Amino acid sequence: MSCDFECLSCDAANYKLMEKARNEKIETVWDRAEAMQPQCGFGEMGLCCTNCAMGPCRIVKVSEDGPKKGICGADEDTIASRNLARSIAAGSSAHSDHGRDIAHALYHAAKNPESGYKVKNHKKLISLAKEWGIDTENQDIKDIAANVAKTALEEFGKPFGNLRFIQRAPEDRKKIWNKMNVTPRAIDRDIVEVLHSTHIGCDADYRNIMTTAIRAALSDGWGGSMIGTELSDILFGVPEPHEIEANLGVLKEDEVNLVIHGHEPTLSEAILIAVNDPELIELAKKQGAEGINLVGMCCTGNEIAMRHGIPMAGNFFQQELAIVTGAVDAMVVDVQCIMPALSQVAKCYHTKLITTSPKAKIPGAIHMQFNEEEAIESAKRIVKEAVMNFKNRQGNIFIPQEKSKGFVGYSNEAIINALDKVTNSTAHPSGTVKPLADAIKSGVLRGAVAIVGCNNHKVLHDKGHVELAKELIKNDVLVVTTGCGAYACIKAGLMSKEARGLCGKGLATVCELVNIPPVLHMGSCVDISRILLLLSELAKFMNVDIKDLPVAGAAPEWMSEKALSIGTYVVASGVYTMLGVAPQVTGSDNLTRFLTNDVKDIYGGYFDIESDPKEAAKKIISCIEEKRKILSI
Ligand code: SF4
Ligand code: SF4
Repeated sequence: MSCDFECLSCDAANYKLMEKARNEKIETVWDRAEAMQPQCGFGEMGLCCTNCAMGPCRIVKVSEDGPKKGICGADEDTIASRNLARSIAAGSSAHSDHGRDIAHALYHAAKNPESGYKVKNHKKLISLAKEWGIDTENQDIKDIAANVAKTALEEFGKPFGNLRFIQRAPEDRKKIWNKMNVTPRAIDRDIVEVLHSTHIGCDADYRNIMTTAIRAALSDGWGGSMIGTELSDILFGVPEPHEIEANLGVLKEDEVNLVIHGHEPTLSEAILIAVNDPELIELAKKQGAEGINLVGMCCTGNEIAMRHGIPMAGNFFQQELAIVTGAVDAMVVDVQCIMPALSQVAKCYHTKLITTSPKAKIPGAIHMQFNEEEAIESAKRIVKEAVMNFKNRQGNIFIPQEKSKGFVGYSNEAIINALDKVTNSTAHPSGTVKPLADAIKSGVLRGAVAIVGCNNHKVLHDKGHVELAKELIKNDVLVVTTGCGAYACIKAGLMSKEARGLCGKGLATVCELVNIPPVLHMGSCVDISRILLLLSELAKFMNVDIKDLPVAGAAPEWMSEKALSIGTYVVASGVYTMLGVAPQVTGSDNLTRFLTNDVKDIYGGYFDIESDPKEAAKKIISCIEEKRKILSI
């Protein structure tokens, strides 16, 4: 590494582990990013095509010389939009397949006692069953759960009609989607259609390619992700605020450390049951450990933190550093955001890297298939592997002391409950978004911004999230956060109630009255569907469309295809969205203009790009104030 650690991350826990990694000759994401420089300009601009074996083709933009069309004749607009559309489809497929797995788990909970899953939230189950027209009168709860699970699974491949959750959107939004022919139909169909239409010799019109891609993205936000969130709440419980600890300091020297990393709560919930099994705890003690310490990483960490108060060890860029501590006895992973490099790092320590999904095997890792049909037994076998590895620890252990406290688990239900406590229940009905609407209308809150997404070496690790959140709360803008952005915020103390001291007067007063932190943790990346629903309810209550609300989205450090899908469905739902890293589209002027300008006239939302968090905050606040002016509030 050619620069100091401070120019790579703003998390002090990382500096010590980066130094340990350097001394122990362990390569990390930052080393590989440096070795990759300069990155390919064609790829950076979205101008490389490998869609058929006549390629690869690349379009030369930087000089008059060089090809301006691919061998088939595809131009820069076609190539860049096809690449983007395929990435959006991949992102939508990842979230949606997650949703499908949760639906399968719900079905097992209803029909297969061997699975060990149990339906936790009957109220939410019955409410969703009624919404979907499923008979609940005198029905056994397990039959209702099975019918809800089957109906959810049918959303993926139904031959006719549109997705059921679309009905939750405001009327004006549905009209826009219908007019633009982007109303999602069946999740798998909408994703497949992107792949088909971007095959060689199909769609060459960048605007039409984006229409198909927008439909697939909406299938994620208002389909696969929403199914994932709603059914997870039914199966594992609706999140409630918990105070937890975060950062790598949550690892313990005297306990078996099991890091659960990935995305799907079907695995993490079963692992949580297994680590509390008295026989496995006893076994850990026999190996010389004081107990079993379960901690989370990336989105799966968000899932178990918000439902059970399990500590959040670190975000995407900290996964290798967790192993570098030498104190991780097993890192158990399922799908998405798991760096293949982990197996090389794990080899240098005693850590067992355990893959569990047939969708994500890694050479060098141990594969222990996790079966939902016998979830708890599968999980116990995996935990036993971690426990038995404790005695193999070597001498090179260093756990940084850095950890912070904060509150996580603000589901929509939890936010509304918190607000209800400070409203006049005799004058107003409880359980609505009225208090939130009132705070926004009065101007005490200027607006709200969702800060979401990943880590990316193109931006200083965590700085994009933290600096942007600080600027916004200082200006009375409430921040909600998910994914790896949530880790950055909790590590920086922004989810503690003391963070009120960093807020403007209006937001500080709201936080004081409602007893909430100014940055609210709303969960994992699929839980951005919670934010869609909150916006939808707020818009309906205020009798406007989502595009009229003084709100925005921001992904300061995004990197994944899932983030592209999220950004696209958020924009198509009417929300101005700020990106800290430019998408790989800038080689097409037309496509860039479409995404940052033309879509505004169609959907109300549009993309903006700004890597400096302070500048990004200025632009977001100006957008919020413009919306307030139009609403005359
Ligand atoms: S689809 Fe066209 S541009 Fe792409 S690789 Fe094939 S020939 Fe080249
Ligand atoms: S925020 Fe991004 S990096 Fe983090 S878990 Fe989600 S998709 Fe992965």
